[in-house]
Amino acid sequence: MRKVKHNEQSNIKLLTKCPVCGGRIKIDVLYQFSNVHNLTRSGKASARHKKEPATPMDCLALYCENMDFQTDYELAVITPQNPEYRVIQNGDRYFLQYK
Ligand SMILES: [Zn+2]
Repeated sequence: MRKVKHNEQSNIKLLTKCPVCGGRIKIDVLYQFSNVHNLTRSGKASARHKKEPATPMDCLALYCENMDFQTDYELAVITPQNPEYRVIQNGDRYFLQYK
């Protein structure tokens, strides 16, 4: 088992695996797309539509494959309840900051 990087000077740990069970962490990136319809002569939206390409939103959640660790889409930890850490993002990495 690989050790997570740990800065002795701080209470911050690089998040690489589930803090509860050591399981694999999944990153759920929310995508947004639009179906664009024409407004027809009858005043209704056309049946056909053009699908705009999906673009990632600034919106993601982390969760453990075993579902014992989970954040909402603002990275607030919702499982477990009353955790002793919070998740912070720095660039494209995620860290646990212990209280
Ligand atoms: Zn886990």
